[in-house]
Amino acid sequence: MNVAHRRRIPVIADEIYERLVFPGETFVSVAALEAGVPTLICGGLAKRFLVPGWRLGWIVVHDDVSALHDIRSALVRLTQRTIGSCTLVQAALPAILHQTPSTFHESLAETLQRHAHIAFDCLKKAKGLTPYMPQGAMYMVIEVDMTGFAMFSGGLEFAGRMMEEESVFCLPGECFFLPNFMRIVITVPEELLLEACERITQFCNRYYQK
Ligand SMILES: *Cc1c(COP(=O)(O)O)cnc(C)c1O
Repeated sequence: MNVAHRRRIPVIADEIYERLVFPGETFVSVAALEAGVPTLICGGLAKRFLVPGWRLGWIVVHDDVSALHDIRSALVRLTQRTIGSCTLVQAALPAILHQTPSTFHESLAETLQRHAHIAFDCLKKAKGLTPYMPQGAMYMVIEVDMTGFAMFSGGLEFAGRMMEEESVFCLPGECFFLPNFMRIVITVPEELLLEACERITQFCNRYYQK
């Protein structure tokens, strides 16, 4: 934010995971930093209400220096030009936001945290893998020591072979320009998550050579 302030660059912050913060962790919006930087904050229903197909989101304009004056009216025009989410969901939005008890979000975050612990505890024992415990959201990033998996040309082949042999798909870090890492999704039911992690472990233990 300091760099943005110095260079007079507005910030676009994607805060879609704002409510998926695990118990014991705190979420801080960039708006709270009060850095004097005009900021556009994106949020939406998809993740916190587990409705990815609804495609309803919003942009919060946080601008204590009024630099985004023209942007605000441009955003309003944009919402009237592009195909938005269906009107039923738009009409339901105030009720969705006002009437959902906070226990819904708390219990979702607790579930995700429990799943993260299950995946972490299992995968930390796999050869060549170093899982990182997340503080929120629905993913876990795992470091893969590819020097021990030299029989594969890279993360794509590693993930492809794991899918063929274990029917488990992990997203290769190459998708995020992050080789030597992969990402798993932890939303699946506990028994399936555990089984998937055990299969990942078997695959790694079978091939890892060092
Ligand atoms: C899912 C997601 C969004 C929003 O998804 P929509 O389905 O388009 O509402 C935005 N940012 C990130 C990082 C996401 O993972």
